[in-house]
Amino acid sequence: MIKQRTIKKAIKARGIGIHSGVMINMTLIPAEIDHGVVFRRLDVGGKLIRAHNAFVNEAILSTSIENKGVKISTIEHLMSAFSALGIDNVLVELDSFEVPIMDGSSAPFIFLVQSAGIEEQDAHKNFFVINDTIRVENNDSWAQVTPYDGFKVTLEIDFNHKKVKESGQNLSIDFAQKSYLKEISRARTFGYMRDVKSMQENNLALGASMDNAIALSDDDVLNEDGMRYENEFVKHKILDIVGDLYLLGANLIGHYEGYKTGHLLNDQLLSTIFERPDTWSIETFESEDSPILFYSEDWQNSL
Ligand SMILES: [Zn+2]
Repeated sequence: MIKQRTIKKAIKARGIGIHSGVMINMTLIPAEIDHGVVFRRLDVGGKLIRAHNAFVNEAILSTSIENKGVKISTIEHLMSAFSALGIDNVLVELDSFEVPIMDGSSAPFIFLVQSAGIEEQDAHKNFFVINDTIRVENNDSWAQVTPYDGFKVTLEIDFNHKKVKESGQNLSIDFAQKSYLKEISRARTFGYMRDVKSMQENNLALGASMDNAIALSDDDVLNEDGMRYENEFVKHKILDIVGDLYLLGANLIGHYEGYKTGHLLNDQLLSTIFERPDTWSIETFESEDSPILFYSEDWQNSL
């Protein structure tokens, strides 16, 4: 059978918060079967918040979850790493309201989980299977999921910047054929330097720097060492989508397609999916070589 997964041992990381600019301590802790991905805020009495669409409270610049007034923000890159490695059960302890930004990609979180080691647990892993099309639109942007024997993300962005246009604004990745770890995990978030400056004047994005983002001038990339992938921009957006989709509470089997999507539209898509329980099912699989064992290479190599 395809089994649930947790990490082998607790592991710690420390990094700056993109909003607060302060150092944050994070510990990933193994968790039992059917636990799910749950966050705990040590600085406010150990309050727990489940990483699930039902607890999303804000999805503008990043994706945040909240439970009874206690919030965790910028969870999407960590969630993306958990999804990519198929981690079903883990407790994430933090001493602040945000997940450290690390280098702006999910690669440091992948490294952390792999350093802890992955353990298969003696229970069937749940998959979230799309059986009918669900689509949401907002002005000219749209996102949809359709039935598909695997996990595939197809995205077109429309970012009016010379470097983004040159690097390609659309990409389709079937994760049974392409490795998330190799093709996606190192892609960093990006933004205009001028926007960061004006946010910082308003006490926002205090931790943002070229150590954790691609900084854009009007027509160039300002980071000295340039880009990690030739199409790093659209790849980062796919990294975000993989993270946001993991708020379904299980690995998705379906095809996500989007045009100019962001965290907000992804949140609307997930909410709409949960309003339509006739369009999806939770399923388990017996065979390790099931054609719908997406992320196959990454999952096999990570054990
Ligand atoms: Zn991102």
